[in-house]
Amino acid sequence: MPRIAQLTEPGKIQIQDSPSLRAGLGEVIIQVKHAGICGTDLALFHGDYPVPLPHVCGHEFTGTVKQVGDRVNTQWTGKTVTAEINNTCIAYNRQPLCSACRKGLPSHCLERTVTGIIQHPGAFAEEVAVAAGTLHEIPDCVDPLTATLAEPLAAALQTFNMSPITGEETIVVLGPGRLGILVVFVAVLMGVKVLAVSRNKAKQDRALDFGATWACSPDEAEVLIKKNTEGLGADLVVDTTGNPDGITQALKLVRPRGTVCCKTTCGLPASGLDMTKLVVDEVNLQGSRCGPFEPALEILKTHHDKLKNLITSTRSLNDTQQALKSASKENKVVINIE
Ligand SMILES: [Zn+2]
Ligand SMILES: [Zn+2]
Repeated sequence: MPRIAQLTEPGKIQIQDSPSLRAGLGEVIIQVKHAGICGTDLALFHGDYPVPLPHVCGHEFTGTVKQVGDRVNTQWTGKTVTAEINNTCIAYNRQPLCSACRKGLPSHCLERTVTGIIQHPGAFAEEVAVAAGTLHEIPDCVDPLTATLAEPLAAALQTFNMSPITGEETIVVLGPGRLGILVVFVAVLMGVKVLAVSRNKAKQDRALDFGATWACSPDEAEVLIKKNTEGLGADLVVDTTGNPDGITQALKLVRPRGTVCCKTTCGLPASGLDMTKLVVDEVNLQGSRCGPFEPALEILKTHHDKLKNLITSTRSLNDTQQALKSASKENKVVINIE
């Protein structure tokens, strides 16, 4: 019987045996190898992002396809894969499509479940079932441990799909942590100047190592960005603080008619949001979530040696509780399932 790490109450994980999964229509069963912990998992673990319990977290994973359901190409069997998190009408190859899928918005599918987050058990388990259309094969040159970064890297890329840049901009990344450092890296690849803002000196240094032009603490950010933009402010500020008040800081740094791109999903409301500043400066507020996997895997092909340094430790499935406890003090903790 496969083991699962089940969240039974906030802060508490129980390792249990559970019945073997069987692939349904349009579905595959994956033998999980590695599953990364992200801010959303921590919000679920601590109860800030409430979901019905018990629940199995984990959505940044890699593994081997061990079983395919009806209407799934049998060639997936045995492949080493990662998967997008939205199990949609299209991903299940289900008809008729919902209105969001018909409108070309599959990541907002009205019928979707979200692996490890919404109504769908996740990958902190020996087996996970997902819709076949979510699968992406991992290139041979990328090891499955590093490939757990595909999902957050895709989310980092989505920042610039929702808030396009040309390469001429000056941007700010608030909170260059697990997701933010990937946003810094992607922005640098796109040729823009990046200011990384963190209270943590080690995170500042790492952002510089990943190509940021400048790094500073939140207190210094306004002076520094104004100095480097002729007093105007940043074209784009990306909030990856994981803190509901990140947006307040972002509004201080963005230029008139600039954009604040929000990546924080901490489950808590922002307090003290200065709507007047937003209106007077005609600031664009842009949410951004899941992104495209194929470009993320392309980046991993070229930069896996650099990016794998972001994985700071690994733990066994039996240690999931400890892993979630220590993850808030580390960059990327990955659970090794095998
Ligand atoms: Zn995540
Ligand atoms: Zn749909």
